[in-house]
Amino acid sequence: MTETTKVQADDLLFYTPRPNIVMTRGEGVYIYDEQGTEYLDFLAGWAVNALGHCPPVVEQALQIQAATLVNASPAFFNTPMLEYAKLLTKHAGMPRAFFTSTGAEANESAIKLARKYGQQCKSHANKIITTTKSFHGRTLATMAATGKPGWNTMYTPKLEGFEHVPFNDIDAMVEAVNEDTCAVMIELIQGEGGVNIADVEYIQQLKKLCEERQVLFIADEVQTGFGRTGTLFAFEQYGIKPDIMTLGKGIGSGFPLSAMLATEELDIFEPGDQGGTYTGQPLAMAVGHAVLSEIIEKDLCQHAKQMGDIIMTRLSELKQHYPITNIRGKGLMIAFQVPEKRATEIVEMCLQNQLLINAPDAQTLRLVPPLIIDEEAIHQFLKRLTESLKALQLVGPFRH
Ligand SMILES: *Cc1c(COP(=O)(O)O)cnc(C)c1O
Repeated sequence: MTETTKVQADDLLFYTPRPNIVMTRGEGVYIYDEQGTEYLDFLAGWAVNALGHCPPVVEQALQIQAATLVNASPAFFNTPMLEYAKLLTKHAGMPRAFFTSTGAEANESAIKLARKYGQQCKSHANKIITTTKSFHGRTLATMAATGKPGWNTMYTPKLEGFEHVPFNDIDAMVEAVNEDTCAVMIELIQGEGGVNIADVEYIQQLKKLCEERQVLFIADEVQTGFGRTGTLFAFEQYGIKPDIMTLGKGIGSGFPLSAMLATEELDIFEPGDQGGTYTGQPLAMAVGHAVLSEIIEKDLCQHAKQMGDIIMTRLSELKQHYPITNIRGKGLMIAFQVPEKRATEIVEMCLQNQLLINAPDAQTLRLVPPLIIDEEAIHQFLKRLTESLKALQLVGPFRH
């Protein structure tokens, strides 16, 4: 990486420190900065660029749609909206779709639909149970749903009606669910929480509990959706089907697109209940259709599983020589633990070594590469990771 002058960004409102790098171009698993420095992207814009950078199918879909119809207004049907809804509901096995632009908006829709259900079908029940360490978005409602430590005191007064219980703890759920509960909202694999995988038994018991108590099961698959975990949706690996599912991130492969899917019985919104200027926006619909078609056609679910298995095996080999532990993941959603408080330092060293990964907390590193990675990319990843660990003198097996 070459030294550069400091990026002048005073005209941007500050909300997070950023490295002194300006990205200009992307191709496949690589992204390039102004100097032409190449970075291996194992973060994919936070699990977003499912098909890598600038995939030809997305470029084509955008070009064709941009020359045909960019915006039709949400008051009309449009062609790509109908086509994408048909394809998506077919593959999800859930017959109703509503489209938005971000994961948080899809979850807002799910929260509204659950409250509507409670109002209509369960004597005005309006409480939603979520789990600790969960992440559901940054709007005020989804922040209230989120179980991130410290978030309960931010931007008060907090939206009411959410209760958090420990993840993977069915007894806590059984205790929390009551006649005021309209829904349970859960990530089957917590992403921002650090790739915490729900047990199959827990999810099956939770689904049964929801059925017994007339409580909706909302799966937040914004991060796990569309092949990332080795199946199109994570719920397929749990032998259940949610009542409502939310999708985002990877389904647009970089274009802002999210969706809420629901059962036929939950087609209960009335005029005025829900909407949005960009719902079913033609460009987004065309991209969504192209991304899903490509994932199915190239069997990228199976590919993600194979590549994920290789990474997991290689990481367990690294364990003999480097202080990494608790390697976990499904498909291409992988995390592991590093010595206490060193995660941020490692991420920074990896950046210097032209590898993008992230640290969901002080001792966890997370990989969510594009689904299109190959063995050469994995080889490069391991090379750049081990160089970074060596540079920080993090060698030898883990010692407590
Ligand atoms: C990222 C994420 C969201 C929020 O998506 P945005 O597009 O940032 O609003 C919601 N749920 C989960 C599980 C996520 O990973």
